[in-house]
Amino acid sequence: MRMRRWATLCIATVACNGAAQKQGTPTQTIRVLVVTATQGFRHTDAIAASKERLTADAAPDMRFDFTEDPAALNTRTLQQYDVLFLNNSTLRITPPNPRDSVSVASVKWPRTGLANPVTREQQEAIIAFVRDGKGLAVVHSGADAFYGWSEYRDMVGGGLFQSHPFTREARVTVEDRNNPATSHFGPSVTLKEEYYYLDHDPRATSHVLMSLDLTSVGDTTKTDHPLAFIRRYGNGRVYVNVLGHFADTWRRDDYLKSVLQGIRIAAGRLPADFSTR
Ligand SMILES: [Zn+2]
Repeated sequence: MRMRRWATLCIATVACNGAAQKQGTPTQTIRVLVVTATQGFRHTDAIAASKERLTADAAPDMRFDFTEDPAALNTRTLQQYDVLFLNNSTLRITPPNPRDSVSVASVKWPRTGLANPVTREQQEAIIAFVRDGKGLAVVHSGADAFYGWSEYRDMVGGGLFQSHPFTREARVTVEDRNNPATSHFGPSVTLKEEYYYLDHDPRATSHVLMSLDLTSVGDTTKTDHPLAFIRRYGNGRVYVNVLGHFADTWRRDDYLKSVLQGIRIAAGRLPADFSTR
């Protein structure tokens, strides 16, 4: 009966923990809820490529369940997972005062309206999930989301998407070469990407793993643009990587590895230095 249940689960999920089973070690699968729902811009190609890569048995120690339904963000669903992965999901919250135009604008409400914005109750479920010890992973336009929700801004280090002045090949400086999400890159890595500038530098509240080398794009402003970082939120862990605009980025093994390792850090399965500098 137990075997049968496991087999059923295995069929229902994307990746089964075959390696751990074979070794006979009781390694627990990392259960990841991957949200690709969009209420703002949709990175159609990147989302498709990410699903391809994540479902291609890239990580036998993880189980990925994908959802396009923002309503899945609730306490009952979240309690089945170790990590919430906001993968290019551009979600919006309910305006605090739907009749006030300033309030509506503050959450970047689309002109077309929205059927199911994320409610305050759902926001509290996400806050509790991370604060009480689980993991949050945010990739690319997961930072172009949840405007007007102060706890989310705090969770991701204080900055949300402001602009993307450079969409081209550029050099990324690897600031922490010991971190498992970046140790495979070497001192720097060159990527063709859409480079986000956030509206607030997360460095003061986060441990920066990678940042944009401004000399490689001819930006002489001497500003600071972290691209990947980790931080604690209550008892939980947060991994943010604002790279991931292009499908080709997802097709790079080094990028995929960094995201998978970031998810493992968020799940608390890999040790990492969370200190700020
Ligand atoms: Zn983008």
